Amino acid sequence: MPEPLLRTTERGLYCSAADVYIDPWLPVDRAVITHAHGDHARWGSRHYLASREGGRVLRTRLGSEANIELVDFGEVRTINGVRISLVPAGHILGSAQVRLEYNGDIWVVSGDYKTEPDPTCSPFEAVRCHTFITESTFGLPIYRWCAQEETFADMRAWWRENKERGQASLVYAYALGKAQRILAGVLDADIGPVYTHGAVERLTIDYRDSGIALHPTTPVASHPKKFDYAGSLIVAPPSAAGSTWLRRFGDVSTAFASGWMQVRGARRRRSLDRGFVLSDHVDWPALVSTIEATGAEQVWVTHGYREQVVRYLSERGIAAQSIASQWEGEDDQGEAVANEEAMA
Ligand SMILES: [Zn+2]
Ligand SMILES: [Zn+2]
Repeated sequence: MPEPLLRTTERGLYCSAADVYIDPWLPVDRAVITHAHGDHARWGSRHYLASREGGRVLRTRLGSEANIELVDFGEVRTINGVRISLVPAGHILGSAQVRLEYNGDIWVVSGDYKTEPDPTCSPFEAVRCHTFITESTFGLPIYRWCAQEETFADMRAWWRENKERGQASLVYAYALGKAQRILAGVLDADIGPVYTHGAVERLTIDYRDSGIALHPTTPVASHPKKFDYAGSLIVAPPSAAGSTWLRRFGDVSTAFASGWMQVRGARRRRSLDRGFVLSDHVDWPALVSTIEATGAEQVWVTHGYREQVVRYLSERGIAAQSIASQWEGEDDQGEAVANEEAMA
């Protein structure tokens, strides 16, 4: 039997035929990167291959010194006979699945993905393959997202009500991806100004420079200390919660936008006024239907509720196994904490 095209190593997923790693968590010679979140794009490798769509955000994350080669979705790089290409994953700007083909054997590494439309990135495409390596961040049947239109309508209503009460509205969202999805979701809202934390603003500029239409924003840092924030929407990363940075906003209503907000008690434990369920990962029905759509006879499950998904697939006759990732469930600051909450 030939050696499998990919295997797990202490540095991450490795293709020995092409001598490349996918999202390695330690420095390597050649890395293929699915997307720019910190648990996937790690600093220190000699050469990175990534999608052109996410080039700007990856550059911001890896720094000016990193040697990054960008490819279009669908463009094939052949390394030692292995045909490698990137396919949209629909998770954040530039997020890709990695398709590898060698001697007729096709493997696809999903990275993080969602199938719901998102105006800030290319839509997910299901790829036929023999082996599919899937994330399982929300891989339990209890996770079912409501339509995002409802979430954005709720968010606007909350913002409007706060404005009428003379309050500012502060929503916590991961600085890369979720924050920009919110800025796209309120694009045509005519409620008040939108202000950003510096970490959000930097990546928001990258999104705009990549051609993504977002609501106009002004960084909070450009205002004098005694600025009046009543009626505005402020977008900040979860790490800003509980910091002195918040004092300047005066009377403020706080919210968090995350898939974890579907977990009972998650909002209360963070002492938030509102929780908006908005995820950049597939929910349970989309996870199951995506795996079906790939037609894969073998599925490896990583990053989340691995054992539960493996059991479900095994019961349906799919050869499934769990593979470890070093940074389990950690998407940007905050998600690791939120993940713990979900497990508790
Ligand atoms: Zn991610
Ligand atoms: Zn991830």
